[in-house]
Amino acid sequence: MTDSSILTRFRDAYGRTATGVWSAPGRVNLIGEHTDYNLGFVFPFAINRRTVLALAPREDRTLRVASSFSPDPVSISLNDLSPDRLHGWSAYPLGVAWALGQVSQLRGVRTGVDVYIDSNVPIGAGLSSSAAIESAMAVALNDVWRLDLDRRTLAKAGQLAENRAVGAPTGIMDQSASLLGRTDSGVFLDCRSLAAEVIPLGFEDAGLEVLVMDTHVSHAHATGGYAARRASCEAGARALKADSLRDVQLSDLPEAEEVLDEETFRRVRHVVTENQRVLDTVRTLREKGPHAIGPLLDASHVSMRDDFEISSPELDLAVSTAQASGAVGARMTGGGFGGAAIALVDRADTQSVRDAVAASFAEAGYRAPDTFTVRAAQGAGREQ
Ligand code: ADP
Ligand code: MG
Repeated sequence: MTDSSILTRFRDAYGRTATGVWSAPGRVNLIGEHTDYNLGFVFPFAINRRTVLALAPREDRTLRVASSFSPDPVSISLNDLSPDRLHGWSAYPLGVAWALGQVSQLRGVRTGVDVYIDSNVPIGAGLSSSAAIESAMAVALNDVWRLDLDRRTLAKAGQLAENRAVGAPTGIMDQSASLLGRTDSGVFLDCRSLAAEVIPLGFEDAGLEVLVMDTHVSHAHATGGYAARRASCEAGARALKADSLRDVQLSDLPEAEEVLDEETFRRVRHVVTENQRVLDTVRTLREKGPHAIGPLLDASHVSMRDDFEISSPELDLAVSTAQASGAVGARMTGGGFGGAAIALVDRADTQSVRDAVAASFAEAGYRAPDTFTVRAAQGAGREQ
């Protein structure tokens, strides 16, 4: 999406001219899966696929949002904004408008706005189109309402919108990546303190790229497996008398195995070892460079497949094929139960990895995956 076409679409939808354009990226989680709500570590990066939003303030208190996915504007008054009045896709952007009121104690100059949204972040592929739309809305309203909120508070507003207006019990990782990301860098996030550190990935100089393999198997983030895994983690922490699984160390695992039932133990072991893998990834990048993180990505996938049981046959095939055809490392990414896997690949090998994955999917009788490369890109901001 170019800035000029979003402006044209805005004009077609609302019959007037937008006063600004903002954008926010989707994200890939390099490593650290299902650790965020356990107050552990995650290490995502913002990607070069973005949600773009054109906006013009209004004289009244009406908020209107339209998207290229749903071009009829959805309208609500600022006076009526509350989570239970918001439904469908518009709960994401309008939920952010509500949440910004919560986190800013209603300060600033809140007027109505017309908003038009477009995106090239694939929806439901584990690349967080949800955080992209929330973060684009958050930076735009922060500017036009003159809220002067910092990026961490904007991330909290996005999370609040997703938790309360959409009803998905997600952590703060996605919004943090979308808002704090930088070119060729990851966002190392401590989900307990919310301290965030931008860590250079060094992929570009090392000739590496990240191949996303979207299986097209859709996940139900708000329901089902995600909630069940969260509940298992809470039960595990309770049984171990820990405030959260963040407080459970690798050295506690033998004792945990005695205390917990077999399944809960495996859920706990995933989270505890995954936290360690995130720390090891950040350290390895600093000490040895990006080629050395492959085994950590591979181990993360095994843990999600066998201990946390959130992979799928399609994701497992994408990962094992990428590994067998020369990837530095590979893992499923995102909440699981479908979605996408990623492989860290030497640029010279990208095409052969893509071809091998396509061939293995055809042979297995699976729907052809979408494979594309992503770069670690700049976080949300104003475009014009
Ligand atoms: P993911 O974040 O992995 O892409 P989610 O289920 O969390 O998947 O969020 C996807 C939902 O977010 C969509 O179903 C839609 O309601 C909303 N959404 C995301 N991007 C857009 C967009 N550009 N226009 C309208 N709705 C969007
Ligand atoms: Mg999402």
